[in-house]
Amino acid sequence: MAEQSSLEPTDWDEFRETAHQTLDDAIDHMQGRSDQPVWQPVPDIIRESLRMPLPKDGQQTSLLSQRISTDFLPYGVGNTHPRFFGWVHGAGTPAGIVPEMFAAAMNANLGGRDHVANEVEKQVISWCRDIFGFPETASGLIVSGTSMATLIAVKSAREKLGPEGIRKKGLIATKGDLVGYTSAEAHSSVARSFDILGLGSDALRSIPTNAAFQMDSDALKDTIRADIAAGLRPFCIVATVGTVNIGSVDPISKIADIAEDFGLWLHIDGAFGALAILSERLRPLLAGIERAHSLAFDFHKWMHVNYDAGFVLMRDGEDQRHAFSERPEYLEGASRGLAAGNPWFCEYGPELSRGFRALKIWFHIQHFGLKRLGASIEQNCDQASFLAGLVTSSLKLELLAPVGLNIVCFRFDPGNCDQAQLDQLNGDIVVELQERGLAAPSTTRIGGNLAIRVNITNHRTRNTDLEFLVEQVLALGVELYGSG
Ligand SMILES: *Cc1c(COP(=O)(O)O)cnc(C)c1O
Repeated sequence: MAEQSSLEPTDWDEFRETAHQTLDDAIDHMQGRSDQPVWQPVPDIIRESLRMPLPKDGQQTSLLSQRISTDFLPYGVGNTHPRFFGWVHGAGTPAGIVPEMFAAAMNANLGGRDHVANEVEKQVISWCRDIFGFPETASGLIVSGTSMATLIAVKSAREKLGPEGIRKKGLIATKGDLVGYTSAEAHSSVARSFDILGLGSDALRSIPTNAAFQMDSDALKDTIRADIAAGLRPFCIVATVGTVNIGSVDPISKIADIAEDFGLWLHIDGAFGALAILSERLRPLLAGIERAHSLAFDFHKWMHVNYDAGFVLMRDGEDQRHAFSERPEYLEGASRGLAAGNPWFCEYGPELSRGFRALKIWFHIQHFGLKRLGASIEQNCDQASFLAGLVTSSLKLELLAPVGLNIVCFRFDPGNCDQAQLDQLNGDIVVELQERGLAAPSTTRIGGNLAIRVNITNHRTRNTDLEFLVEQVLALGVELYGSG
């Protein structure tokens, strides 16, 4: 009879030694990050080494670990560096390594059943209710990110306010008349949720914004009225707390009033901005957030939980369950034994198997505490003001948008370029900053103009990093402009 085998280490002592070395390498990587380039392109030789035929036979843990350490660690996106300012990325923490090890060791599946991991997620959900002032009836679910959270929220809104039977019959149950509203500054994930749900992204009306880049609530009201008059069926409004371009916050209270008047669902995309609630000073900007039917935000952005970790919070847990619950016989619950623990998390979203993301979030919140997390968010907003000050006091720099929270959009302008030249020059400055590993802002367009966009969701950033950034932008501007 052939010997039976498993996937356990063949030599536990050797495995232990390698795992300890791996942990040291991971810690060394994080500790030394600020001395490294912010970003560097993946060398061709490493890209090529990743195009290998399927391995038939295995390799030692130590060899693979060594390879990850030398070939992969230095070539990340850069968001663990103090001068990473691109898009909206959280910075992560070394502490986050610890719960990830335990999560891998437990290998828990949080789709349902009765085990401790689900209790940890329930604790996280309860904390989220408390953070945002949602009632006891509120439900929630840890998901990959705000895109998934918004999808779950919009589906719940569709099932709540759409016609009977839509879950079974699909959109045939509607007259193709469901419409929703968001601002022109909304994140593309909102339109994507309309697309995925079969409503079509055209069914999402884009409401213009005011000078502060906030949804124009009068235009919102007018559009809803016009749609109703045209025989359509408005069902939800998606407001944004912290827009991706400039960090503006829609007028939540006014929009909540409108949602109430018309009987619509209010979803808030608070991907990064919602967590500004952790700062006493910033909290008033978010007044009314507790009136939302649903709220999406990310732990992996401004709270710096290591990727990935997002959350959907829903005022009435029944709405969420109504939109997703569907349990065949093989998933039947019980009042005792391992199949207990009702309701199961798989009844609150599209996924059945779910990893133990809850552990790193639970660990992170306990380890840092809300005060420290809030202070870090507040510090980023102070840094954005500091940077805006540097920009406005320089004759060759121009601020392109108001600074609401943590995002600064500006450009280098030597004074005698036309619009196309300025766009080219500033785009080149950003690429050079990235390729030289100096700093990593991204770009966007503000009123048609290409802007250097500095988003500070980074607990490692110091004011000196921003001074350095400005010096380098000015130096590069002169260098690139001078060279034609
Ligand atoms: C990042 C972001 C999203 C998408 O979140 P993911 O976690 O990347 O899915 C949505 N809205 C806003 C405002 C964002 O900044």
